[in-house]
Amino acid sequence: MNAQNIVVQKFGGSSVANLDCMKQVLRNVQKPLADGKKVIVVLSAMSGETNRLLGLVKQWSSTPDLAEVDSLVSTGEQVSIALFTMLLKDAGVKARSFLGFQIPIITDDFFSSARILRIDNKKIFKALETYDVLVVAGFQGCTEDGRITTLGRGGSDTSAVAIAAAINAEVCDIFTDVSGVYTTDPNITRKARKLDTVSYDEMLEMASMGAKVLQIRSVEFAKKYNVIIHVRSTFSDEQGTIVSQEDSQMESILVSGIAYDKDQARITLSHVPDKPGISAAIFTPIAEQGLLVDMIVQNLTETEFTDVTFTVPRSDVEKTLEILTSLKSTLEYQDLRSDANVCKVSIIGVGMRNHSGVAAKAFLALSDENINILMISTSEIKITCLIEDKYGELAVRTLHDTFKLDEMSYSNK
Ligand code: ASP
Ligand code: MG
Repeated sequence: MNAQNIVVQKFGGSSVANLDCMKQVLRNVQKPLADGKKVIVVLSAMSGETNRLLGLVKQWSSTPDLAEVDSLVSTGEQVSIALFTMLLKDAGVKARSFLGFQIPIITDDFFSSARILRIDNKKIFKALETYDVLVVAGFQGCTEDGRITTLGRGGSDTSAVAIAAAINAEVCDIFTDVSGVYTTDPNITRKARKLDTVSYDEMLEMASMGAKVLQIRSVEFAKKYNVIIHVRSTFSDEQGTIVSQEDSQMESILVSGIAYDKDQARITLSHVPDKPGISAAIFTPIAEQGLLVDMIVQNLTETEFTDVTFTVPRSDVEKTLEILTSLKSTLEYQDLRSDANVCKVSIIGVGMRNHSGVAAKAFLALSDENINILMISTSEIKITCLIEDKYGELAVRTLHDTFKLDEMSYSNK
């Protein structure tokens, strides 16, 4: 079987939410079939189902066994693939469903956030000799010794891209309830515009900053195996957003998006001895607990003491404070403070690699709105400002206007 004749399509929870939605999915699957192609359909659980199952876990156990959690939450996808395959068969299509272990999609044993190790494409190609459509459960895999795993929230995206990579497909279609990736959250500004193209690196920054269209791991996977992702709407024929390797046209766009992340908190250790090893002493125990620290600033002082400030996801504040409190005598700090009324706003664009002045322009625009910047961090293609929570949406709108992101242009300088 030639990979060119196989199309991989993934549909998210809102696309399979009920019978009417699934009928729309059916129409999308029938299009490539009409062109003589075979289709691998990867489905999420019906919207709300994974949350419902996780809610049950909470009721049943205060210390749930993660392997059992995965056995439970993976059932959401089993329901959607079985129901959808029934629709296909009623429409006269030769189809069958596959759970992760039936392919198999082999993962490591980090239950609830397992990583795909390999996918056996032999069985896929063999099945495509008999069937025109394979309907595969997203989000799940199994360990080497046959235990069911799940890939983390939003993991069906990764299942789809991994399958596309395994069969050498050039493109993986990700169908969702929006028409593509936007310059920023359309709920914040009506001026948000759908991007025609975005590079893997930009998409990784946008996803990690809370633009939740694609699971981050799916983009990492796509980048590694060079799978083009087409994010598009289940409910219209409109061309969506192509996520791919960056090209020279993308580089000529200075800023492609503004990301916004409300799930942030700032922690400050004041009056810490300024000596070698102090940062390691603070951050090693935090990392060992699996907590993700993002922005870090250490103040420059003339004394032997300094202040260290950093950010963590809001849900990790208590845990981080606990760790640091237990280390008070080792770290010898004077004061430990936290502030959850902060958010992160980021400007993202591969064009920044070759242009200066973006940061200055952004800072000026924020100051014109009287928005105080609490922390700044930069990478080659991103500038992030931590600001007070209540100014988050205003900052997004201001920056979106400043860089004229509502206009399709190749030089929004
Ligand atoms: N059903 C899973 C979730 O809600 C996986 C997915 O939808 O991609 O996170
Ligand atoms: Mg999703």
